[in-house]
Amino acid sequence: MAEGTCSHLAAIATIRHPKHQQCDECVKIGSGWVHLRTCQECGVTLCCDSSPNRHASKHARASAHPVIASAQPNERWLYCYPDDAFADY
Ligand SMILES: [Zn+2]
Ligand SMILES: [Zn+2]
Ligand SMILES: [Zn+2]
Repeated sequence: MAEGTCSHLAAIATIRHPKHQQCDECVKIGSGWVHLRTCQECGVTLCCDSSPNRHASKHARASAHPVIASAQPNERWLYCYPDDAFADY
């Protein structure tokens, strides 16, 4: 990925970290998840696209919140859905 192609990632000044290590939407419906992602617009933590319910990408589309960060403790990257762009931090 070429740097500077995504204005959403460039606009992130402070990384939002997960408040809880859980997907609240999955907890509500009694489901499970694989990995967690934190929305950089509103701070909600939801499950990744490898999870059965894909709540993070559904939230990104429904709310037009483009950028998530990995909520995995050992991972430090951001992802922009509309531009399909990754960035390390
Ligand atoms: Zn973008
Ligand atoms: Zn979920
Ligand atoms: Zn959001």
